Amino acid sequence: MTSHVAGPARCRELAARLDELRLRIDRACAEAGRAPAEVILVAVSKTWPATDVAALAALGVADFGENKHQEALAKVQALTGVTSAGVGLRWHFVGRLQSNKARQVAAYADVVHSVDRAALLDPLDRGAAEAGRTLQVLLQVSLDGNRARGGALAEELAALADHVATHQQLRLAGLMAVVPAGASPRPCFARLRGLAERLQRQHPQARTISAGMSGDLTEAVAEGATVLRVGTALFGGRPPVLR
Ligand SMILES: *Cc1c(COP(=O)(O)O)cnc(C)c1O
Repeated sequence: MTSHVAGPARCRELAARLDELRLRIDRACAEAGRAPAEVILVAVSKTWPATDVAALAALGVADFGENKHQEALAKVQALTGVTSAGVGLRWHFVGRLQSNKARQVAAYADVVHSVDRAALLDPLDRGAAEAGRTLQVLLQVSLDGNRARGGALAEELAALADHVATHQQLRLAGLMAVVPAGASPRPCFARLRGLAERLQRQHPQARTISAGMSGDLTEAVAEGATVLRVGTALFGGRPPVLR
């Protein structure tokens, strides 16, 4: 049986990294004239063990992000009943989603950040209905128009958003984007903010802007991000993937 508790050295490391990250976020918010409470931290725990998630939950982090279904499911199951400051953990699916996995992801995810095509909506809706839950949906937008890396084209967002709204168990919550490799973050996030404002005119409740990772969270906060997805700064460099 594996232990669900990280060792004391790892717990101290995670606590120190979390403190440093919260300072960075607080500083970014202060510079942007925003309240830190407006920004939700999602700890992207992909490749890291459930014991790390439990350690961060004990330190007050409640939102965790994963990008692969099998790995996510294993952690969700290992951490059943674990809470953070009295609330259940919230799971964010941030990776590319195959339509044949969407139904299963909807059984445990609270938020899916990577909805980029209409074909995902029926299976997500069905999976959420079977699990008796509602699912928050973020539309991932491609900021360089290269669909191969995931994300819908900007001109597809309006129709996709209207389509989400026709599904009983799905709640359109906003937009997500990743800065394309080599691009400068600030203009990318400014563009995302513009797209989000346009979306909100049709769907006023869709106020989430999921943007900003370890390397660009200051720029994201400056351009109105409400969710930061942070992996490396919190956990350290990712270990090599073992297959
Ligand atoms: C891995 C990942 C992150 C976290 O990236 P870091 O640079 O490690 O902070 C954020 N978003 C998505 C979609 C990811 O896959």
